[in-house]
Parts: sequence; C-alpha cells; structure tokens
Amino acid sequence: MNHPVNPAEIAREALKRLAAGNLAPTPANYQAYYNEIANLPIKAPFPTAPLQNIAALLPAHGAAQDKALADLDAAITGNSWKGVETALLEFINFAASKSVAQGAVESALPAEFLQALAGFIESTLPALGDKKERGPKIAGELVQVLRKPPVSIQLLQDLLANAGPQTMVSAEEQGQIKISLLKLMHLILENIGQLTLDESWLKGQLEGMLAVVEPPITLRQLHDMEQRLREVIVKQSETRRQSIQAREDIRNMLSAFVESLAVMNDSSTSFQQKIEDSANKIKVASKIEDLGSLLQDVIEATRSMSERTSEARRHLKGMQERVAETEAMLARLHEELDSVSAQARHDPLTDALNRKGLDDALSREIANLQRRNVPLSVCMLDIDNFKKLNDRLGHEAGDKALIHLANVARHCMRPTDTLARYGGEEFVILMPDTKLVLGIEVMVRLQRELTRMFFLSGKENVLITFSAGVAEIGKEETGIDAINRADQAMYLAKRAGKNRVLGA
Ligand code: GH3
Ligand code: MG
Ligand code: MG
Repeated sequence: MNHPVNPAEIAREALKRLAAGNLAPTPANYQAYYNEIANLPIKAPFPTAPLQNIAALLPAHGAAQDKALADLDAAITGNSWKGVETALLEFINFAASKSVAQGAVESALPAEFLQALAGFIESTLPALGDKKERGPKIAGELVQVLRKPPVSIQLLQDLLANAGPQTMVSAEEQGQIKISLLKLMHLILENIGQLTLDESWLKGQLEGMLAVVEPPITLRQLHDMEQRLREVIVKQSETRRQSIQAREDIRNMLSAFVESLAVMNDSSTSFQQKIEDSANKIKVASKIEDLGSLLQDVIEATRSMSERTSEARRHLKGMQERVAETEAMLARLHEELDSVSAQARHDPLTDALNRKGLDDALSREIANLQRRNVPLSVCMLDIDNFKKLNDRLGHEAGDKALIHLANVARHCMRPTDTLARYGGEEFVILMPDTKLVLGIEVMVRLQRELTRMFFLSGKENVLITFSAGVAEIGKEETGIDAINRADQAMYLAKRAGKNRVLGA
C-alpha cells in the first residue's frame, strides 16, 4: 500500500485501523493512529476534564483572582499549557501577597482587648505598693501604652518582658511587708498578754486577736475582731469608772468616820495615835483591798475602847460590810467582763457561735467522730435576698430577722447540734450522728418551720427563705473541706432558683 500523504487519506486509514478493533474507538486513539500514519510525533491528549475539576476547586478572593481563574478556564479550553501556567502563577502570587497583608493587620491587637488588659493591670496596681516605686511605675506606663492603640503583638511582648519581672519584685515585696507586719502584731499581742496575766478578760481578747492575725487573713475576720474589741473597751471603761467611784465613796466614808472618832473625848493616847496613823494611811490608799485591811486595824484599835465606842464599832462593822458588798459588786463586774470576753466565741447578735467558736466545735466533733466512728453532717445556709429585706425594712429589721432565723433554727435542731454564724447572713449547722439524707431532712424541716413561724416586722409578716447545701463529712476529709463542699452545694441551690436544699 502506498503511504497516504493527504489528510483525507490519512484520516480514512486511521478510521480503518480504529474499526479493526485493536483499540477502543476514542478520539485519543484515533489521534494516535492518525499521527502514526502521518509520521507525526505522538502527543499525549490534553487533560481538559481533570484540569477543569481542579479549577472549580480554587476559591477566588476578589477581582484579581477572579480574572486569574477566567484566564485559567480559557487556557484549559484552548488546551494551552502555557496559558494554564500563567493563569495559575497569577492566581498564586495574588494569594501570597494577600496573606502577607493580612498578617500585618492581625499583628495590631484589637482595641477592646487592649482596653480590657489595661483595666486588668490597672486594678492590680494598688497591690503593688507605692506608685513611685519602680514596679508600679512600669506597670502604670504599660497601661498608658495599652490605652493608645494600635499596639502590635511584638510591642506588647517587649513591654511585658520588661514590666513582668519588675512588678513581680514589687508584688513579692508587698507580700513580705504583710508577713512582717503580722509578725510584729503577733509580738506586740504576745507581749501585752505576758504583761497582763491577771486580767483574764483581756487574755480572751488577745487569744482572739492572735487567731485573727494568722494568715490567711480576711477582711471579714478583721471587722469581727474590731467589733468585739470595741465592746470590750466600752465594758472595761465602765468597770473602771465604777471601781474608781466605789473607792472614792469608801475613802470619804472612812475619813469622815475616823475624824469623828478622833474628836471623841477619849484619853487613850495610843488609841489616838493608831487612829491618826490609820487616817493618814487611808488618805494615800489606792486599792480597795488596802482599805479593807486598814479598816481591820481600826476595828482592832477600837476593840480596847470603852462602852462609848461600841456604837462606833457597830458603825465600822456596817462599813466593813459595805466594803465587802462593793468588792462583790466589782467582782461581778469583772465576771461580766470575762463573759464579754467569752463572747470571743459567740456572735453577740444571734448568740450563735462565731467563726472561732465554730472552729473549736468542729475540732471537737471531728475528734468525736474519729473516736466513735459515727456520721457527721454539716450544712451551709444563706438567707435569700437578704439585701432586699434590709433595703426595704431597714438594717435593724434585718438584724431582727437574723435573730429570728437563729431562734427558729435552734428550735428545729437537736441539743447536740451546733449553730454558728459563718458570716453576714450565712450560718453553718453541725449535725453529729446524722447521715446526709437525714441532714437534708432537717434543713427542709427548717424551711417548713419558717413558713409557719413568720418573722414579724412591725405589722408585716415577712417570709424568710434560704438556700442551703448539706455535706456528710468523709472519712479522710477535714471539717473545712466538708464546709466548702456544703458551700458549693449552697451555691448551686442559689443558681437553681434559691429557696432549696441540695446535698453535696
Ligand atoms: P442571695 O439571695 O443571692 O444570697 O442575695 P442576698 O441579698 O441575700 O446576698 P448578698 O450577699 O447580696 O447580701 C447580703 C446582705 O446581708 C448584704 C449585707 O448588707 C447584709 N448583712 C450582712 N450582715 C448583716 C447584719 O449583721 N445585719 C443586717 N441587717 N444585714 C446584714
Ligand atoms: Mg451571703
Ligand atoms: Mg444571701
């Protein structure tokens, strides 16, 4: 066969071979036969469909990339590898330049973030000590910068690297100052304690203060202590005033009596002398006890006197009795003072135990629990919306409501249970020999009881409700941990809508 030369012949020959059926009758195979017959180089077919699939997957951002994609489409349709290459490069270059630009924008931090950070740092400044010191000064400057955006991440990083160590030094120093002040206070309190061994009421107060200055210190504890000290100071000055007054009264009575004795018509000079001595001593006596013994001297001296003095002796005896009475009164006053001091363990408003009293009771109960292996439940209770009650009816009514709640609670509790005021309107109840379920029951009973026994403010019946959490103390658990668990449950009870009791 002649080798076909014109395209029509080549095409016919190619079709013939295709029809012979060696290969599938596809355009690509036809092309392959054609090229072979025409002695042309055999080219791979252009992958239009896969390239179009890829192009469809490329996301375009903006007009420039849209154009690049349109160019790519045209190049694929035109089977132009060169065109595909150009369009793809165009597309990629634009994407890269865009991401560089975006990076530059992101490194400037958002203004809200900077404001929040500035606010946070500012709120910590007072804890860093004097404003003129290096740490707080640098932190203050940082705040200034943050308040003036834009601030890049890099700049912020540099500033923090500089400010961080400085403020850390300041914060540590403040911590040290606090510890040193507490140590100093401890020393002073211990010293006062040693100086005044005989004043037991003062010892009670000092013990309380020593307990309060143990870290961690809370403002609430300090306020409680301040309140208690004020009460003792008032009580003490009252006692002092009364005892000075009593001493003066007795001194005056004695002087008057001794003077009248001295002018009595008696010849006994030794008696005269003794009486004069006593009179002088009485004038300088500063203690009631001394007056008592001087009086005894006078009585001894008068014993030798004649009938005429018997009247005077009776008088003297009467006075001795009054001295004894006064002494008894002073002793009573001191006792009262001691009981004020004992209130270092009681809350004066509700007569429930205070925090210190609770600590003691808790230690006792836990020791008991370890000895006898019985359950112990603790409850944390917080009055609902108490602030509103105060706002609406006044602080005094609020105080009375607290007393009412404490009374009703005591009414529901067993004698072995302990009621303590944990804070403003928060109470803790310790229930020995009580498992969790029973503990919850007791609190639900208290809820019910409060709906029966209304709190009466003026003529208004006020319903007091509370939220409570109850925890049964675990075998290895500390009392504080159990109270914290009860507190968490109480918090959940608040969150769940208040006026309810939850077990921890
Ligand atoms: P919640 O239901 O979430 O517990 O709200 P609340 O109002 O009871 O609690 P909040 O802690 O907001 O307010 C407690 C209030 O208790 C604020 C304080 O004035 C008042 N309070 C604390 N101690 C006493 C007190 O001894 N007497 C009186 N009258 N009010 C007190
Ligand atoms: Mg509260
Ligand atoms: Mg409350």
